[in-house]
Order: sequence, then C-alpha cells, then structure tokens
Amino acid sequence: MLAAVTEGVGKVTLSQRPDPGSPGPGQVVVRPEAVGICGSDYHFISGELSEQAGGSQFPRVQGHEVAGTITAVGPECRAELAVDQRVAVWPLHACGRCYPCRVGRANTCDNFKLIGIHLDGGLQERLATGQEQVFPIRASDAGVAAMAEPVSIAVRAVERGRIEPGERVVVLGAGPIGQCVCLVARERVAEVLVIDLQPSRLRLSEEMGAATIVWSDRDQVVAEARRWAGPDGPPVAIDATGAPAAVRAMIEIVASAGRAVQVGMSGEEVSVRIGSLTEKELDVLGVSCCGSSEFAQAVAVVERNDALIARLISHQFPLEQAPQALQFAMGNPTEVMKVVIRGDQ
Ligand SMILES: [Zn+2]
Ligand SMILES: [Zn+2]
Repeated sequence: MLAAVTEGVGKVTLSQRPDPGSPGPGQVVVRPEAVGICGSDYHFISGELSEQAGGSQFPRVQGHEVAGTITAVGPECRAELAVDQRVAVWPLHACGRCYPCRVGRANTCDNFKLIGIHLDGGLQERLATGQEQVFPIRASDAGVAAMAEPVSIAVRAVERGRIEPGERVVVLGAGPIGQCVCLVARERVAEVLVIDLQPSRLRLSEEMGAATIVWSDRDQVVAEARRWAGPDGPPVAIDATGAPAAVRAMIEIVASAGRAVQVGMSGEEVSVRIGSLTEKELDVLGVSCCGSSEFAQAVAVVERNDALIARLISHQFPLEQAPQALQFAMGNPTEVMKVVIRGDQ
C-alpha cells in the first residue's frame, strides 16, 4: 500500500509499505479518506518537537486528524462498529500508570503516544488501530469528519476555560483552532470576540455571531478587547496562536480572577509582568489534546455544524501529492486555512 513517509527533517517521500492484514482482537483496520494537516505537523517535520512531544521519531507516517471507513473489524470489538462505516480517529494512547493518568488527565500522559506523531498515522492507504480509537461519525464528507480532531482541541479548551453561558470570551487567532474554539464557545452561548491579523479570516467568526478586531498593536488590541468586555475585562481569554505578542495580550486582556487558556503551540518564549499573575490571581490553563469523552463531544459538534466546518477546508490534495501538500501548507500560512489530504481520490 502507498504511504507518505516523513524520513527526516523536511523530507517526505512516497513509498510502498506492507498492508496491515487482518485485525487482531480489539483492533480495526481503517481506510483513511481524509487527513487534515495542522501546525503540529509543521513542528514535527521541522524537527522542533521535544522528545516527549514526539521529536526524533523519524521515519514516521504523519496524519493525526483522520477520518476514514472501516475495512475490517477484529474479534472483541464493540458491536456498533461495522465494515464500511465512516469513523473519526481519536489519536491518543495513554499509559494509564503515570501521575496525570492516575488523576484522570490521561491526555497529558507522560508516556503518551499519538497516532501520526509517535505511531504511524493517516497518510497511508490502511491504518490498523485499537477499536477504542474510532468514533462513528455522520458527516457529508470525510474532510468534514476529519475536523473532529481539531474540534476536539477546541472542546478541551472550552472545558479547561470552564466557559459558562453568557460569559464574555476573547479568542486570539482565527486559524482552524481559533475558529473551532469560537464555534464551541458560541454553542455554549458565550459572547465571543475573535482577534486576528487578517480581516479575511475574521469573516467566518462573524458569521458565527462573534465580534472581531483586526490585530494592530498590542496595547491597542488590549484596550479595545477590554472595552468590548465591559469595565472588568473578559473572564476568559484564549490564545490560539502561540505567538508571544498574542500570549502577552491574553494575560493583559483577561479580567482579574479570570482564566487564561493557552492552546496555541510554540517553542518561543514570552515575557509577562509577574505581577499581572499575582495581582489578577489568574488561572493560567494549558491545553494539550483531549480525552475520549471530549472526542465524542467533538464528533457531535461536527455533526451539528457540517456546512460551517466544511468552510474551514481551504485546500485538498490526493495522497499521491502528500509531499507537495505539506510543502504548500507550510509555505503559504496566510492563504491556507485547513489543508486536507484525500485518500479517497
Ligand atoms: Zn492537528
Ligand atoms: Zn500515563
């Protein structure tokens, strides 16, 4: 079978690999139909991930945002799984033994393995995996179904931020994750303000009923966002960029006693005035990937918002062009919203 293999830093090649064969007990085989590419894929290819986050894992078949159809179901799988069913893949495997696993935070497991990062992922014609990783999903298109993974990060962010109905929430960044955070927060009946450098990206947020601000300079954005939220500032601010200036703006925007939620990944450093953490007594909350119940919630969000989520997909390439697709996505950050690689074309 055909696979796109990341052989080393910046090097993706197409090659033939053995088919996984019949699934064992508790295993299924999936034919990946659509695989979304995101910022963490760029970090992986660039060799920027730390060891724990999945660095130095070459050669690897990437693709952690996967939707496909089941082609074979092994014995001892749950009854709802069947051949020809469309599923979204939850990429996380946790060890179940370390401290975060023991306290119910398996998504931050010290020994976690993610499909597409630590284990081979969706950029191949067949993917064998455990039955607990696949979630049946009703979506008009496999590309939409593959968005369950980025939506699951947004579900996790909204959970971590403990967003309540009617609360004012500021989201920095209107890329796919920022848009998904906006969507999930709006579904929780929050009032949302989205901030981004590019006016074109903000249009979709506006259609979801969010207010928007185009990023100018930090002081101005902080003042405008706090004005939007009312005299106290917003109780929740979420960074979906990983850019130091935006992270600092998040800390400055959020209300005293509020929640600052970091979703955007980055290897960069940021300076914040230490006093703003103590004086405001902020909860600073990091977001990794999600647990299985949050993935199930994400599947439901996708099913309810099919047409809207379809609009996040800006470019599609067949699997045979996976190397070019990855290069295109990394080289055109302003033009690209979500690149999807299709295994069904
Ligand atoms: Zn991703
Ligand atoms: Zn663990």
